[in-house]
Amino acid sequence: MAALHWFVWLIAGILVMWGATWVGRGLEFFWWLGLSFVVIGIFKALLAFVFRKSETAAEQQLGKEFKVPGGVRYCPRCGSQLRITDLFCGRCGTRVR
Ligand SMILES: [Zn+2]
Repeated sequence: MAALHWFVWLIAGILVMWGATWVGRGLEFFWWLGLSFVVIGIFKALLAFVFRKSETAAEQQLGKEFKVPGGVRYCPRCGSQLRITDLFCGRCGTRVR
């Protein structure tokens, strides 16, 4: 949907520019309007590209965190398994929360 959106802006801008050029004089306003549409389209495309990239990174980060099965955690010092409710490690006593 988002990918289609900037594409529509771009196409609409090109069509308006083309139309203004075709009809001729007195349509400079429409030519500039079309140009701004194209610029918006390019801008949206860049935004969509950057946003999709960061979104993928965020998803990967989330995936890492949620891959831990059943919410099991591990002590950062000794690596023993902890319950999700544990405040301290049962083996070495390190505060884990
Ligand atoms: Zn520990």
